[in-house]
Amino acid sequence: MSKQFQFKLVLLGESAVGKSSLVLRFVKDQFDDYRESTIGAAFLTQTVTLEDQTTVKDTAGQERYKSLAPMYYRNANCAVVVYDITQATSLDKAKTWIRELQRQADPSIVIALCGNKLDLSARRQVTEEEASKYADEQGLLWSETSAKTGEGVNAIFNAIAKKLPLTA
Ligand code: GDP
Repeated sequence: MSKQFQFKLVLLGESAVGKSSLVLRFVKDQFDDYRESTIGAAFLTQTVTLEDQTTVKDTAGQERYKSLAPMYYRNANCAVVVYDITQATSLDKAKTWIRELQRQADPSIVIALCGNKLDLSARRQVTEEEASKYADEQGLLWSETSAKTGEGVNAIFNAIAKKLPLTA
């Protein structure tokens, strides 16, 4: 039997950047073009199970309103802060979340910045250079993803998993 490690993951970001879609893609390898965005859901949490130190699987997800966010990220092991590469304002919002995490979350938290909707790069408002430079300065993992095509999704979760302290 393979060893399993459980971690608490929190996803943060402006509404409609694709947090739920990223989880759906990662967990079930599915995408729903017509799903209605959950208005006001600035974050959701996910328990991540890491098997044999390489595979990541979820168990359950939960959504709450922003005012409750600190309750969720306070004990999180890792955070994925999501922006939409076609919406410059969503990167500003992501930076606000990152500052909040840096001030209030556990100092050992692994933070990844994720630029989603890579399939819409023709409408890009945030360059790779701008986002990756910011992520480097802040010591964050950074990647672009498309929950729609699946591009980059496993990679970002696996990159996080590799940085988590694994103690059996
Ligand atoms: P959340 O509010 O951050 O959880 O965002 P959702 O996951 O609800 O996604 C908001 C909308 O964007 C939905 O209509 C999704 O189908 C769409 N969406 C999410 N990810 C992508 C993506 O990678 N590419 C495209 N084209 N649309 C996406």
